[in-house]
Amino acid sequence: MHELSVTEHLLDYCLKTAEKQHAARIRVIRLCVGRLGGIVPECIQVYLDMLAEGTIAEGARIEAEFLPVKVRCRDCGREGEITPHRLACPHCGSLRLQILSGKEFYIKSMEVDIDGDQSTASADGLE
Ligand SMILES: [Zn+2]
Repeated sequence: MHELSVTEHLLDYCLKTAEKQHAARIRVIRLCVGRLGGIVPECIQVYLDMLAEGTIAEGARIEAEFLPVKVRCRDCGREGEITPHRLACPHCGSLRLQILSGKEFYIKSMEVDIDGDQSTASADGLE
């Protein structure tokens, strides 16, 4: 879907964060991705490879962690997690579910080189 603009923002944010920490190179960008967000990490990687050319993020690797989709059941009232293979309430099997989360997209952490040293930077707060 909109991975290109997402990647532009992502790269922009990572470069700014890395700059603040005087990083010489960005090695790895770890993302948390909700399964309902429609973000395909492989696409992000492809766009990043293009966009990051000539920056300190050139060659950076995207690692994505998928977050579960949390739901509340309208029938039994309990909360649970669903997957694309099991879309029913895990407790009673109902399909009348309210989605609580699953569209998240944020940077969990970054691995950067600072003057030749490797360091892991935490980067919260990207929408
Ligand atoms: Zn239920």
